[in-house]
Amino acid sequence: MTEVNRAALFFEPGKPFELVSLPVPDPAPGGLTLRITRANICGSELHMWRGDGRFSKVITPQGRILGHEATGMIHALGEGVATDWTGAPLAEGDRIAYQYFAPCGRCRNCTRGMSEACRQSFNVQRGGLDEWPYVRGAFADYLYLHPNQAVFKVPDNVTDTMIVSANCALAQVVMGLERVDVALGDRVVIQGCGGLGVYACAIAKERGAETVIAIDGIDERLQLARAMGADHLIDFREVQESRDRVTAVKDLTGGLGADVVVEVVGFASVINEGLRMLAWGGRYLEMGTFYTGTSFECDPGRLVGQNQRIEAVASYDAASLQRSIEFLSRNADRLPLDEVVVDYPLEDIERAFADQDVGRIRRASLVMCS
Ligand SMILES: [Zn+2]
Ligand SMILES: [Zn+2]
Repeated sequence: MTEVNRAALFFEPGKPFELVSLPVPDPAPGGLTLRITRANICGSELHMWRGDGRFSKVITPQGRILGHEATGMIHALGEGVATDWTGAPLAEGDRIAYQYFAPCGRCRNCTRGMSEACRQSFNVQRGGLDEWPYVRGAFADYLYLHPNQAVFKVPDNVTDTMIVSANCALAQVVMGLERVDVALGDRVVIQGCGGLGVYACAIAKERGAETVIAIDGIDERLQLARAMGADHLIDFREVQESRDRVTAVKDLTGGLGADVVVEVVGFASVINEGLRMLAWGGRYLEMGTFYTGTSFECDPGRLVGQNQRIEAVASYDAASLQRSIEFLSRNADRLPLDEVVVDYPLEDIERAFADQDVGRIRRASLVMCS
């Protein structure tokens, strides 16, 4: 096994990545060093690469290692680490899924059971390239995981291609649909069929949704949404006007509108349309537009008068990651879970971003080793 730790440095929107070699971090007590096998390009990295919203001003002259939606196998266990977060024994070489941030466990939100809103979570991503553990992003060969980052062993029937999206896209969808209580008989609209969107179709059905309507404008995304459980597709190349898409949703829901609408497009401009698709008493789930610096139009009188609510979810709690892994294992033979990502070698990171940017592919996955 190579001990070279290749890492892709990001400097600013419009500037190409640079591949460098950094030390492999030794694990501290309670932590572990992961050999990254693959890391996806998540929507958040795409926003950064493009410079959407406030990201247009993000410049890091010394370079920063992006990448968080990833998986790997254990390279070295820190002192005192013998099990994962379910108590299953861990050994070098085991494949694991990990929480890419580290809730502190003792702040006001953590102690109230809202670790997803811990303000310390992302401290583990801060620090210089010349100070241990050197690498704080997954577009690299090795990554150190701190003691507060939940880790779970991956079942044998869940492939690396399936598990790689679990620690961001899938776990966030699991948490989000729980937050808006998608329940038996619900009618659900998914705005956007990228990684989060196709998982949202599958999880909504698994939670008992009667009807799932998926909206996108790219053939292969729409097809995958269908294969993941969407009952109806709205192709925005065919239904070009916003009001016609709202009418289409009303037509597919007995004239009432959707109980739940999920935004996973990543642009604030679609939110008003989604709100107009809601039924009385409906819940709107905002997850895609995670960056600040944009806004949307909203008629608060309609929200009040129709007893609707808006929820927003970023990241997730450890239990949602564990349930994501169980979902993958339970559905490994039933759903096309291997088809969410498209592979690229780390050296092709620039092309992977460019392809994902134009929507040519669903979700790029950088392969470090297998
Ligand atoms: Zn992500
Ligand atoms: Zn906390």
